[in-house]
Formats: sequence, C-alpha cells, structure tokens
Amino acid sequence: MTHKARKRFGQNFLQDGHIIRRIIRSISPKPGQHLVEIGPGLGAITEELLEAVGELDVVELDRDLIPILRTRFFSYEDKFRIHEGDALKFDFNSLLESEQSPQQLRVVGNLPYNISTPLIFHLLAHTGIIKDMHFMLQKEVVQRLAAQPGENNYGRLGIMAQYYCQVDNLFVVPPEAFDPRPKVDSAIVRLSPYAELPHPARDTKDFASIVRISFGQRRKTLRNNLKKTLPTEQIEALEIDPGIRPERLSLSDFVKLADAYTGFKQDNPS
Ligand code: SAH
Repeated sequence: MTHKARKRFGQNFLQDGHIIRRIIRSISPKPGQHLVEIGPGLGAITEELLEAVGELDVVELDRDLIPILRTRFFSYEDKFRIHEGDALKFDFNSLLESEQSPQQLRVVGNLPYNISTPLIFHLLAHTGIIKDMHFMLQKEVVQRLAAQPGENNYGRLGIMAQYYCQVDNLFVVPPEAFDPRPKVDSAIVRLSPYAELPHPARDTKDFASIVRISFGQRRKTLRNNLKKTLPTEQIEALEIDPGIRPERLSLSDFVKLADAYTGFKQDNPS
C-alpha cells in the first residue's frame, strides 16, 4: 500500500533510522508501561515502540492511514489499539478506565506543527495521568518550551509548561530526516510532569490569566500590562519591580503575582 503525504495533516514521515533509534533511546520504553503515540503515520516510531513494550495505543486523524497501520502491525492483535480521531479532542482519561491497575501514560509523538501548541495545552490539563511526554516539534517551539527568564523566546508557552513539567530540550533533528522534508529544523523535547508542583499557585486559572495578561504586550512594562488587573502597589508589595518587562520574571514571580491577584479579587468582589 502506498500513501501520499498530506500537508493538511502536517505529514512529514521520519525516514532516518539513526534518528528513530535515538528517539527510542531517549524514550527508553519498557514492557509493562502504558505508551500512547499521537500521529503514528506510517509507523516509523510505532514499530520500535511496539517491539519494546509489546502493546500500544495510537491516536491517528488520517483515516487512510488506519488500514496501513492495521496491516503492518496485525500480528499484535488487540495489543495494538488504534483510536481514529483528533488528538486535540481525545479523552486521554478513557485509556485508563479499562485497566485494572491504572498506571500513568507515557505520551509520544512526532506532531504536526500546526497542532503542537494547542495539543500541549490540552495535555497540560491532564498532567495527573501522564508520566512523561516526548515530542518532535519545530525547533523554535522546543526553544520556547525550555526558555528561561530574560531569553527572547521566553513567554506564555514556556511558563505554562514549566509550571507543570520539567522540560528537557534533547536534540535537534534536521529536515533531511523526513520525507517530505519540512522547511524548518525540528527538535525532540521531554516534558515530565512534577508529582508535586515546585511553585503551586492558589488558583491555577488565576495563574494562567496573570501569565496571559502579563504578556499581553511583551514590550510593555508589567505595570502597563496589568493596569486593569492588579494595582501597582500590590506588585511592589511582592518586591517585584512594576517597571520591568514580563520576560524578566521567573516562574515563582508569576505565581506570587497570581496569588496576589486571587487575594485581591476576594477582597474586591466586582
Ligand atoms: N509519527 C510518524 C508521522 C508523523 S507526521 C513519523 O514520525 O513518521 C504527523 C502525523 O500526525 C500524521 O500521521 C498525521 O496524519 C497525524 N495527525 C495530524 N493531525 C492530527 C491530529 N489532530 N490528531 C492525531 N493525529 C494527527
């Protein structure tokens, strides 16, 4: 069976055996673990994951790929479970329900670049059931995920990911590793959700709001961005300089701001 790569589904199939093995080594899949692959495509990573673990769940949107995958891995019978559909809408909890002793999921995917950011946000909402995630993403997205305060690409995506997860930028993958070749470099990132958050906010929603509003205009000061949200005196009381730009603040600074905002809303119900 042949398959013509579809741009619409962000299809760039891995073809470099060296890179595939390097990804598998980073994941280090073991029998007994519960792995889920998003976007298996023609099965480049799937094959090695199945070989190492003996079973696998996959979520694939392109229905034309389903029979190809079924044929290729038919010998695994019900140990290879294909979920046809959109990973953005997929309920990852449903994978645990059927198990007698539910264990955390290990999520893996060479993701289409157009869904990578929303998918990561979708998965960050499920961190309780996820042991770790290994993704191939556009290199710039991996840099944003791992960025530290003061760096150019430090912003909302990195702060939200680092609130929930340890983030490791593992290695770069050049366009030649794929067929067809993407126009940009890719990179592998590992996201490992913390069992206990290092900087828990009183209210996660308020934390997400404060981060979003603080970066409303990244070239403006914190004071300006938070003008309608948190009085300047409240920012100063936290010993945070309201005159700096949001990209200078650490994760724990944002958590302090969020907690102040939660308290401020309670004291000043609108
Ligand atoms: N893992 C394969 C394929 C990568 S290409 C490899 O490395 O070779 C990206 C894959 O994600 C394709 O199979 C594409 O059909 C699938 N895909 C695209 N959008 C998706 C979505 N929203 N949900 C699940 N899979 C998706």
